[in-house]
Amino acid sequence: MRNRLLATLSIVLLALAITGCGSTASQEQVAPTAPTTQDATPVAADQLKVIATTTIVGDVVRNVGGEAIDLTVLLPIGADPHGFEPAPADIAAVNSADLVFINGLELEHFLEPLLENAGGGAPIIAVSDGITPIDGTEEHEEDTSHADEDDHGGNDPHTWTDPNNVMVWVDNIQQTLSQLDPANEQSYAANATAYKAELQTLDGWIRGQVSRVSEDNRKLVTDHAVFGYFANQYGFEQTGAVIPGYSTLSEPSAQDVARLEDTLRSFGVRAIFVGNTINEALAQRVADDLAIQLVQIYTGSLSAADGPAASYLDYMRYNTEAIVNALQ
Ligand SMILES: [Zn+2]
Repeated sequence: MRNRLLATLSIVLLALAITGCGSTASQEQVAPTAPTTQDATPVAADQLKVIATTTIVGDVVRNVGGEAIDLTVLLPIGADPHGFEPAPADIAAVNSADLVFINGLELEHFLEPLLENAGGGAPIIAVSDGITPIDGTEEHEEDTSHADEDDHGGNDPHTWTDPNNVMVWVDNIQQTLSQLDPANEQSYAANATAYKAELQTLDGWIRGQVSRVSEDNRKLVTDHAVFGYFANQYGFEQTGAVIPGYSTLSEPSAQDVARLEDTLRSFGVRAIFVGNTINEALAQRVADDLAIQLVQIYTGSLSAADGPAASYLDYMRYNTEAIVNALQ
């Protein structure tokens, strides 16, 4: 019974999703020729040239590498890491890099073959290496008709929703940078220690925040299954989600919407959390019909520099506050 409800919820919530982790802005605004990989700041010739795929990986790499590295973040703000397709300028940047950091666990599904064939010979390091992955397919089991190449496969790649996992990222980044650039080893070690202390503080702060939400209300319904690691760490249940990237069911029938609303009612959810990639009119209608909140969160990308989630730490604080305020 419960599985059937989950399947229904997944199918209809698919209609809310246009893309996976990113934002609507990315797909339209980023022309293929956008200079996403150009770095305006002058660079010392001996600096390690480092690429990071997503804005979130890039922010953590920047915190460890500091001034010692020449960092290029491949994906623009708001881009969907599941479906991103690199432009020629991106391929050139990868070709001339000394080192490439990716999230791993097939988050960069479309990017990995390209990175491997780029020909530059730069090592490709998955920052999530060493993290025990959780199963990301459970909520899709009865929905195989919709499984497409954007599906995450067996493992949930969204490791960063638990800051304890990002501490593993930091260790991986520090070790790799130190190996390739031993001259700056001490700087990387100091940066890593300082940043891990901030992640520790963040973890404690999240625990304090979520303690304001009763256990009955710790249910996360999202447009796509981003919060698995967060849910595991902080005692939430990820109640409904969609397959990232699935977009063809853009106009669900009135019956589909009614079924979704029945399902959400039966779960007693108090809010739907959405990245900015959804069919907002539809999501808003469902929220209005059920008198529950539609809450904006950040998923696969940080916000722009002047937004509320411009760093990973701010991203986690913003999302945690959004979740706690809606569910408490
Ligand atoms: Zn995702």
